[in-house]
Amino acid sequence: MSYNIAIDGPAGAGKSTIAKKVAKELSCVYVDTGAMYRAMALYLLRCKVDRENPALIGEACQGAEISIEYKNGEQIVLLNGENVNAFLRTEEVGNMASVSSANPKVREKLLDLQRKLAESMNVVMDGRDIGTTILPNADVKIYLTASSLTRAKRRYLELQEKGEKCDLDEIRRDIEERDMRDMSREISPLKQAEDAVLVDSSEMTIEEVVKSILQIFREKVILSDEVGKNEG
Ligand code: C5P
Repeated sequence: MSYNIAIDGPAGAGKSTIAKKVAKELSCVYVDTGAMYRAMALYLLRCKVDRENPALIGEACQGAEISIEYKNGEQIVLLNGENVNAFLRTEEVGNMASVSSANPKVREKLLDLQRKLAESMNVVMDGRDIGTTILPNADVKIYLTASSLTRAKRRYLELQEKGEKCDLDEIRRDIEERDMRDMSREISPLKQAEDAVLVDSSEMTIEEVVKSILQIFREKVILSDEVGKNEG
């Protein structure tokens, strides 16, 4: 049985934590598309490209070849052959990714890679435009969200655990700014696909969210597969 699961939603909604757990439960592959945009952003930062200049971003991104490998179930992002996983999770890279991902040339470069991965195996893929643009025929589409305050609090706790100094209001502003950029851009804006199921995780635990997505998967994929077999 082959299938794809698309999980979209705003920054900090818990997409990667949830998608990883769902993929593990189903023994399929988790594809983190945000990491690809982050690798592209890292390349642009290293090239010192002016983030306010879309033409330069469009030109510079042609020099970045991004590919993916899997080692022990973990996604490794290769930027021109270099494993850059260790450099992707900083605020600087995240902010640049949020700006450069609005560039059509950047999106064009990553679209094929994402579609090919989903064609070659069963995936749980998370991002912003997976259900709307990358995999419009995904078997299950989830739009995972939470209030900006909840998302900011989660991020705050994460940073505190790492021993980093942080300010809740600043994190919330940053999250809202990123939402605005992702939702208002011209190309592939973040929005709920018409056939996506909305899951608001504000009042839910991680386990509850995973359980509800697995339930949706069972209803949409496993049961319809069984009905298909019985009818056939
Ligand atoms: O999900 P993550 O925070 O790692 O994504 C980094 C940035 O990449 C996001 O702020 C978003 O602007 C962009 N992105 C995107 N489309 C995707 C995944 C991420 O535009 N499919």
